[in-house]
Amino acid sequence: MNTTARTGAPAGNLADRFHATFGAAPDGIWAAPGRVNLIGEHTDYNEGFVLPFAIDKRATTALRLRADHTVRLLSTFGDQGLVEADAAALVPGTVKGWAKYPLGVVWALQRHGVEVSGFDLLLDSDVPLGAGLSSSHAIECAVITALNELTRARLSAEDMVRLTQRAENVFVGAPTGIMDQSASLRGAAGQAVFLDCRDQAVQLVPFDAREAGLVLLVIDTKVSHSHADGGYASRRASCELGAEVLGVPALRDVAVADLEEAAGLLDPETFRRVRHVVTENDRVLQTVEALRAQGPAHIGRFLDASHASMRDDFEISCPELDLAVDTARAHGAIGARMTGGGFGGSAVALTPVDDEQQVRAAVVRAFTEAGFTRPDIFTVTPAPGAERIS
Ligand code: ADP
Ligand code: MG
Repeated sequence: MNTTARTGAPAGNLADRFHATFGAAPDGIWAAPGRVNLIGEHTDYNEGFVLPFAIDKRATTALRLRADHTVRLLSTFGDQGLVEADAAALVPGTVKGWAKYPLGVVWALQRHGVEVSGFDLLLDSDVPLGAGLSSSHAIECAVITALNELTRARLSAEDMVRLTQRAENVFVGAPTGIMDQSASLRGAAGQAVFLDCRDQAVQLVPFDAREAGLVLLVIDTKVSHSHADGGYASRRASCELGAEVLGVPALRDVAVADLEEAAGLLDPETFRRVRHVVTENDRVLQTVEALRAQGPAHIGRFLDASHASMRDDFEISCPELDLAVDTARAHGAIGARMTGGGFGGSAVALTPVDDEQQVRAAVVRAFTEAGFTRPDIFTVTPAPGAERIS
């Protein structure tokens, strides 16, 4: 079993690069993973259930506190160069580029009453950007884990989840929930994170695909998504309308057995949106039960049903995602679905080890034939959550 394998930069190299850039050794090095969502899509903001896991791709940050208020940030990715900011003068919505993620965390900590001085930070991440694996939360979770320790703020995991959410919602301006940072902060090797988005209760559920002779393939379609997109806002609005008409605080409170009655109360489109959320919550619960009782080889049908529901009821898939899912299924995957907010991003395909190469080749071939951009395909395993690594 190799669930803790790491692909990020070795800590020693990052410390050397930090020294070369900032002229001193870092106070420490902290890492936080990206995440993939196994099942439970668009259930988070309906106070429902999700089942993501922390992946073996992560953001690693070397950080050293400064005596003044200056923040200096450098990423090994891209050519944006050194970014400088004043930690004492942060204003939501004004920061462009990747600096908004670490600075958003500083701002949220300050608003929470934690005094944060300036610091130097070097970031190295192998979480692919914009693929639906939450590269932004990986950065935020690494930074908040580092600052929580260095400022001796003693924040709980729940606090850090809320603060990174505030950083994204208010400082960055992205209307995201609590799933991504919960997985990144609270994940564990070999485990999926069963999260109740109503009260943040977390239960770790064994998900050791390798042991069951399976791999979880991520197929990054390279189709770009945007949370700011009207599609996301309109889905949220439909869910709110559905809950209001059905007289419940959130769609979490609607059971599958209530759907028949709901059909008579809602317009057809709102009903389809509601049906996705209600059945998806149920699928998360069934997946958790199947993982506990039988193991990963028994969750395929829930992944397939989840995809169909997102394609037909929630209408957030796209031709690239459908092709990835259908092709993976046709060539051996035991279950596959789009993952993430939709309208692009990645699909996951739970695949027998023996069929992995066949599925990879078939998906690439199908994309070429359809004239789509060549997808990136890689495996992910459940890895430890945010931690100090040096
Ligand atoms: P996702 O979180 O799904 O990957 P987002 O759009 O929320 O997509 O976040 C992607 C953004 O995160 C990038 O545009 C960039 O600003 C930032 N980012 C991610 N990884 C890095 C990195 N290694 N270096 C600099 N910025 C990064
Ligand atoms: Mg993000």
